[in-house]
Amino acid sequence: KIEVAALRKCFGDLEVLKDINLRVDAGGVVALIGPSGSGKSTLLRCMNLLVLPDGGRVRVGGDSFAFGSGDRLPGVKEIARFRANTGMVFQHFNLFPHMSVLANVMEGPLTVRGMKKAQAEPLARRLLSKVGLADKADAYPSKLSGGQKQRVAIARALAMEPEVMLFDEATSALDPELVGEVLNVMRGLAAEGMTMVIVTHEIAFAREVADRVVFMRDGVVVEEGPAREVIDTPREAATRAFLSHFH
Ligand code: ATP
Ligand code: MG
Repeated sequence: KIEVAALRKCFGDLEVLKDINLRVDAGGVVALIGPSGSGKSTLLRCMNLLVLPDGGRVRVGGDSFAFGSGDRLPGVKEIARFRANTGMVFQHFNLFPHMSVLANVMEGPLTVRGMKKAQAEPLARRLLSKVGLADKADAYPSKLSGGQKQRVAIARALAMEPEVMLFDEATSALDPELVGEVLNVMRGLAAEGMTMVIVTHEIAFAREVADRVVFMRDGVVVEEGPAREVIDTPREAATRAFLSHFH
C-alpha cells in the first residue's frame, strides 16, 4: 500500500504540492487526473523519492520516510531500496538503445538486485511474455513500435518485483492506434492485484480500471472518491470544468 500524508514540495518560490494526503490500499488502483501543471508528476516522483518532498510523509509497503524540518533525510541506500520497490513508467520509454529487449529487462535484476543471469533471464522472459513480447527478446529497441517499447518499459519496471507501480502518462506519447495495447497490459496488472497509481488523460480507462480517482489542481487535491462517482457525477465545479474537456 501507499500512504502520503501532509506532503509539501516547493520549487524555489513555487509551492507545487500543498498538503497532499493520499492513500492507496494494497491491490488498489488510483487514477490521478488534473490540468497541466497541477503537480501530478511531482506527486508521483515524490512517491518514489525521485523528488524529495519538503514536508510530510511517504510510505510504500513497510518503508516510510518523514520530511519535516527535524527529520533525518533518507540516505542513498535507503532511497535506492525504496525506489526498487516502486516501479515507475514514464511517458518516454528511456530504454537502453544499445541493449536487446531481454538485456533491458534483465538489467535491473542483475545490477540492482544482484541476481545471477540464470535467475534473471527466466524472470525477464516470463515478464516479456506477460506483456506480449516473448518473440521480441532479441530485438533492439529501435526496431520496436512505441507501444512495444512502452510494454518493454513496463516489463523492465516489473523485473524489480516492486510492491507498487506508478505510471506517468504512459500512453500520452503514443500514436492513437498503439494506446490500447499498453492500456491492456495495465488493465491486466490491475486485475492481478498490483497496487498502482496512474496519471492519465484516458478518462474512460480511469473510470473502468481505477477504484478511486483523485482530481488535483494547483497542487491540492480538489476532489477524491470512487472512480465512477468522481467521473460521472463530480461534486466540485473545478472537476466538472476539467472533465468537460473530455466529452
Ligand atoms: P502535466 O499534465 O503537464 O504533466 P503535472 O500535473 O504533471 O503537469 P508537474 O510536472 O508536477 O505538473 O508540475 C507542477 C509545477 O511544478 C509546474 O508549475 C512545473 O512548472 C513545476 N515544476 C515541475 N518540476 C520542476 C522542477 N524540477 N523545477 C522547477 N519547477 C518544476
Ligand atoms: Mg506530468
